[in-house]
Amino acid sequence: MSDLLKINPGRVLAVFAHPDCAIVNCGGALALWAAGGAEVTVVSCSRGERGGGDPEIDDDEMAARRREELSESLAILGARPPIILDYPDGELENTLGLRRSVVGLIRAHRPEVLISHDPTAVFYGDRYISHPDHRAVGWAVVDSAGSPSAGVRYHPELGSPHRVPLLLLAGSLDPGVTVDIGPAVGAKVAAIRAQVSHVGTEAEWVDDMVRARAEQSGESSGVALAELFRAVRFDGPAD
Ligand SMILES: [Zn+2]
Repeated sequence: MSDLLKINPGRVLAVFAHPDCAIVNCGGALALWAAGGAEVTVVSCSRGERGGGDPEIDDDEMAARRREELSESLAILGARPPIILDYPDGELENTLGLRRSVVGLIRAHRPEVLISHDPTAVFYGDRYISHPDHRAVGWAVVDSAGSPSAGVRYHPELGSPHRVPLLLLAGSLDPGVTVDIGPAVGAKVAAIRAQVSHVGTEAEWVDDMVRARAEQSGESSGVALAELFRAVRFDGPAD
């Protein structure tokens, strides 16, 4: 049984590995909260230059396409234009450099909700293993939101610390909260369909796939269409 999360945040920051990750993992929640007035910022830690199956397209061309697609997807969701970092796609690691980037984003945007990959999710049944970039970014975000990176004595050059009240981790094998995305599922479908380098131009199937997954995610809490997250609530000052 997963708890229904009903919030109306003012600032949301989503930090994921690749340009399509946030859309697929939490596009419904982002659209929902943006419609409620939230300032939604999405970060891709890589340019996604190795995504898409076409070997004829060089890395820079692919990265440019994916930037355009992400911009379009985020406009559909009501989010701000994307922030795209340049860590190498497929070679992301939870380094001090990546954590510095994430801590800097947290301090600059001061989100009430921070969202990323659940880094503990590795084996999805016996047919799928999580992308190592997802694990690396998930750990970097977890480590940046918690101690000691969030503390006042760490990274003073990045501005004053910000304690993130709520961290949500997507793709979790042990989710604890449900977000009802009923009003936002259409926006999520449209945003995923804008990821043409991944879904192609004839992507009617996206609608069925997104709805089927959302229905399945809602089952445990009696919600028709949902996204699920592991939730971590930080209270008290950063230390
Ligand atoms: Zn990804």
